[in-house]
Amino acid sequence: RAKSAGGNRFELADPEADARVITRHGLTTALPAALERGEFFIEYQPLVHLGDGSVRGAEALVRWLHPQHGVLGPDRFIPLAEHTGLIVPLGRWVLEQSVRQARDWRERHGGATTAGPLRINVNLSPCQLTHPGLVQDTVDILERTGVAPDALCLEVTESALIGADDDLLKPLRRLAELGVDIALDDFGTGYSNLANLRRLPVSVLKLDRSFTQSMQQFPADAVDLKIVEGIVALAHSLDLTVTVEGVETGAQAEQLRILGCDTAQGWYYARPGPPERLHELALVDATA
Ligand code: C2E
Ligand code: MG
Ligand code: MG
Ligand code: MG
Repeated sequence: RAKSAGGNRFELADPEADARVITRHGLTTALPAALERGEFFIEYQPLVHLGDGSVRGAEALVRWLHPQHGVLGPDRFIPLAEHTGLIVPLGRWVLEQSVRQARDWRERHGGATTAGPLRINVNLSPCQLTHPGLVQDTVDILERTGVAPDALCLEVTESALIGADDDLLKPLRRLAELGVDIALDDFGTGYSNLANLRRLPVSVLKLDRSFTQSMQQFPADAVDLKIVEGIVALAHSLDLTVTVEGVETGAQAEQLRILGCDTAQGWYYARPGPPERLHELALVDATA
């Protein structure tokens, strides 16, 4: 479908790029109806304590069961939802679902887990941060469900907070004051000033998967070891908890545990899955 160049017309010589544009467009326009029809669902991936291997909670990861394209991952549609603003109602839906799920785990477990009640981590997009309803929506959801604020951790990427001014930080500060944990997601990829950490109302650092990947061999690359060691020391001196993402092997888990990381998440423990799966994992863990 190459068009002749000239005037202001587009060149669409690459049929695959063409198809991608159409799919993007098609997905974007389908988003609002998908939310109404209930085509989104959430998978949960356990967060595991590196010291004793117990399941402490889970991260909520949204998916779209598209009637034609099958299951789509968030990387396919979150950017589109951010672009159109649908991320605000979609994010609110994810938050409510996830908090309800956390309450359900708590009710079903009673005091069964040795590590205490399961917690829930939910990702926030930068657009949700600037939306004026964020604090009130979150408070409403916690009140409606009867879940304590300290059972909830909101994940914000490091890049979303780089150079953040006080207006952007205000809602996060308010949520932190209420007892909600704030995690800095994908930490180490955003070139942020480490000293800047003090200014942010965060209580958890989530070390990006790229650090875990460099722990492939045992022993791992000496420079990467030093970097992670330094980040962990700094984080702990600021009273932050360190979670590592993308742990795929036992060797990585062991290395990161030795380096002092607190919690881990990755395929080595479990892939993201349905809520019942987390229930089983946590229960097995508690009775083991
Ligand atoms: P994230 O928050 O950094 O989530 C971790 C991603 O790493 C997830 O990808 C997860 O499935 C994947 N992962 C977990 N363990 C491993 C592992 O051992 N190896 C590898 N290779 N990957 C692993 P996913 O589910 O595709 O999500 C991608 C991103 O989409 C998330 O990155 C998050 O930024 C965003 N996202 C997911 N759900 C939501 C949501 O409800 N709202 C918003 N705003 N963003 C979301
Ligand atoms: Mg996350
Ligand atoms: Mg992450
Ligand atoms: Mg990541």
